[in-house]
Amino acid sequence: MNIIDLVKDLFSIAKKSGNIELNMKLIDLNEKIVELQSEMSRLQKENDDLNKQISTESDIEYHEDPYLTRKIDEKPIKYCAACWASEKILVPIQALDNYAYRCPHCNVRILITAKRKQLIRGNLFI
Ligand SMILES: [Zn+2]
Repeated sequence: MNIIDLVKDLFSIAKKSGNIELNMKLIDLNEKIVELQSEMSRLQKENDDLNKQISTESDIEYHEDPYLTRKIDEKPIKYCAACWASEKILVPIQALDNYAYRCPHCNVRILITAKRKQLIRGNLFI
């Protein structure tokens, strides 16, 4: 028997008894149960979100530059590290050129140092 059925049975018994105080206490109990169910739903959602975050965090690879990639992506996608740090959302960054990207969510500009260094080195040796 779940708690709702139990409360219904108690309401039925209390109604038959004609005990007004008992009926009032059952109404209070029912309100508390509704509050607890609402809180439990909120906590379950929060728990699900945190579990997703932990799962995602274990899949993330951090780089020297402020972007992230995920091990699970077949083709590497660069995500905004700022959005992950502040909001725990993965936003793919958009390429502006060979070594500069922009986040469409927080609008941060990301310069890829490693590529820029390769480009500078390449120019120095040509
Ligand atoms: Zn961002």
